[in-house]
Amino acid sequence: MTIFDGITRRNLLTGALATSTVGMLGGSLVESGFAKAPLTNKPAPGFYRFKVGSFEVTVISDGPLVLGPPSADVFKGVSKEDMTKFLEAYYLPTDKVALEQNSVVVNTGKNLVLFDTGVGKDLKAFGPDAGKQLANLKAAGINASDIDAVILTHPHADHCFGIMAANGRRNFPKAQIYMAQADYDFWTDESKGVNDVMKLMVGGARKNLMPNRSRMVFVKDGQEVVPGIQAIATPGHTVGHTSYLITSQNQTLLNLGDVGHSHIISLERPKAEFAFDTDGKLAVESRLKTFDMLSKDRIQMVAYHFPWPGVGYVGKQGDAYRYYPAALRTTL
Ligand SMILES: [Zn+2]
Repeated sequence: MTIFDGITRRNLLTGALATSTVGMLGGSLVESGFAKAPLTNKPAPGFYRFKVGSFEVTVISDGPLVLGPPSADVFKGVSKEDMTKFLEAYYLPTDKVALEQNSVVVNTGKNLVLFDTGVGKDLKAFGPDAGKQLANLKAAGINASDIDAVILTHPHADHCFGIMAANGRRNFPKAQIYMAQADYDFWTDESKGVNDVMKLMVGGARKNLMPNRSRMVFVKDGQEVVPGIQAIATPGHTVGHTSYLITSQNQTLLNLGDVGHSHIISLERPKAEFAFDTDGKLAVESRLKTFDMLSKDRIQMVAYHFPWPGVGYVGKQGDAYRYYPAALRTTL
């Protein structure tokens, strides 16, 4: 017989009620030790900090990106029912699918680098809670005007629409912008705006990228972008999609970008193409190659859309993979 035997939810509730009744009775006799404080109704600040060698890495949340209720073919070949089953198996809500937006700041000691700028404060297409990057940078004690390099994994709405403010000012006025030229050429080409989604993507990319053409540096596969940060071409999700290897004192972190979107489906069904891939087959190829490298070499990674803060590991599981979130720490 253990203490858990016979405990049901009903017993627990009755027990709690009994305890509070005793407390109330006792309260009239002795001074109560229970403080009463108003609810804060505010989430904790959205930043998480850790070290990679001597580099200081701060993950900054841009808030959640809501995809809506589970539906077929967000991941090609994954039915609505399959998607719901995956969510249930991972103890997640089944009424709506929400991804996180984990942008990364690296202070190398020489450069203050921001990877991806979030969706910006004005676009509400992804739900009311997206667009928190600037507020969370501030909460983390990082001045947007101190950032000297903005590095883009790719110029989709949720990664680059925060470069410019609505009034036409730059949110990161001293930064050079690094990205693949193939992505610049593709996403600023008006002829690619063939439907409403593409019109929004191309229109926003033009607004955020084109005024910065003179401060843009195009990166190539394998190039050291700033000391300690190397570009790794991972094309497919977009034509020039790039991940970045961050290395200091023999420690390594891969900033994955959008090589995977779901910590469940991208891992368990890695061959499922994502609805917004420019070239789904190439994206799958890049994903398998990257995940194989991460699992074989046990490299830590940070993923833009995985559950906050998106820091963890990819392990092999049968002929697919599994995501292992890193144990979060309260020390550096
Ligand atoms: Zn994305």
